[in-house]
Amino acid sequence: MQFDAEKSIPATLIAGDGIGPEIVEATITVLDALNAPFAWETHKAGMSGLEALGDPLPQITLDSIRRTRLALKGPLTTPVGGGYRSSNVRLREEFQLYANVRRARTLLPGGRYEDIDVVLVRENLEGLYVGFEHYIPIGNDPHAVAIGSGVNTRAGCRRIAEYAFEYAVRNGRKKVTIVHKANILKALTGLFLETAREVGKHYEGRVKMDDRIVDACAMQLVLNPWQFDVIVTTNLFGDILSDEMAGLVGGLGMAPAANIGVDAAIFEAVHGSAPDLAGKGVANPLALLLAAAMMLDHVDRNDLAQLLRKAIDQTLNEDKVRTGDLGGTASTTEFVQAVVRRIEADRKLMMS
Ligand code: NAD
Repeated sequence: MQFDAEKSIPATLIAGDGIGPEIVEATITVLDALNAPFAWETHKAGMSGLEALGDPLPQITLDSIRRTRLALKGPLTTPVGGGYRSSNVRLREEFQLYANVRRARTLLPGGRYEDIDVVLVRENLEGLYVGFEHYIPIGNDPHAVAIGSGVNTRAGCRRIAEYAFEYAVRNGRKKVTIVHKANILKALTGLFLETAREVGKHYEGRVKMDDRIVDACAMQLVLNPWQFDVIVTTNLFGDILSDEMAGLVGGLGMAPAANIGVDAAIFEAVHGSAPDLAGKGVANPLALLLAAAMMLDHVDRNDLAQLLRKAIDQTLNEDKVRTGDLGGTASTTEFVQAVVRRIEADRKLMMS
């Protein structure tokens, strides 16, 4: 492990599968140009973990994250149908990654909406995703009735609401909107609404609070997304709304995610391993680069995160360097070189 004054924050690096190694390498090149303070411990997970060590989530990888409490992760392939359980879900459970944070921000003007900047804080461990499901057979039909239960705890609701309001304070955000369905799921999401409102009262005068029923929120995100600042919601609603929000700013290709937990924080791109593009050198590294910016915020290096976001904006909008998925012709390497040039130019400007 590298450990010196500059690289003083140990962090686990997982290249992942498919395009993972390409976009992770690209991101590390940019982080090196920024002089980011991470001392990387490199490990495997997903298909490459299975192939190299016989386990899609090897013990050595888990031990590293337990030690560093911080990870940057490329996408991991999960076999559909049979095969092993998603390593992403296992990581979430293992490290109690209770908050999934996704920021949807306009990077490319000229889309359907301009100047969007909304953050969604999704509860990641409870709700309808706990998987308490079963069938009741009737006659010859073993699946005649399907039953699923959700679980929300007051402690879990409080924890995610506190995270959202604290996030708002730390990041200069003005308002938190609590999204629920308490008119119908009165217990499950009623508890969420009640608890989040209690938490919000402690932030009176610092962060405004309002609430929306999820279906109305989904519509209003399309009609007038600028009314939202930070949204906090339960697991299933958060899953759906965060994809909707990514759609407002051009899709999953530019969407980063932070998974924040009691025991660790893991940063990743929202997209998957894109096996159709693997090895071709054309994958867009933007989502992972933006995840790295969130990781820099997390370790209180907002200065470097801002520098990175600015360099990305300049590369896309002034230099017009873009990968194929954004209508450009740049390879992964060409895009990264353009971002690095911007970072270096900014550095020179700051030192002169
Ligand atoms: P995907 O996100 O990998 O790909 C969907 C489409 O988007 C493809 O056409 C792909 O080429 C394109 N795409 C994705 N990322 C891109 C990028 N950076 N640049 C340019 N184009 C990009 O989704 P999928 O095909 O449904 O899933 C593939 C694998 O990834 C599956 O095994 C799935 O389980 C896994 N997955 C992992 C994660 C994760 O690790 N967080 C998330 C989603 C899916």
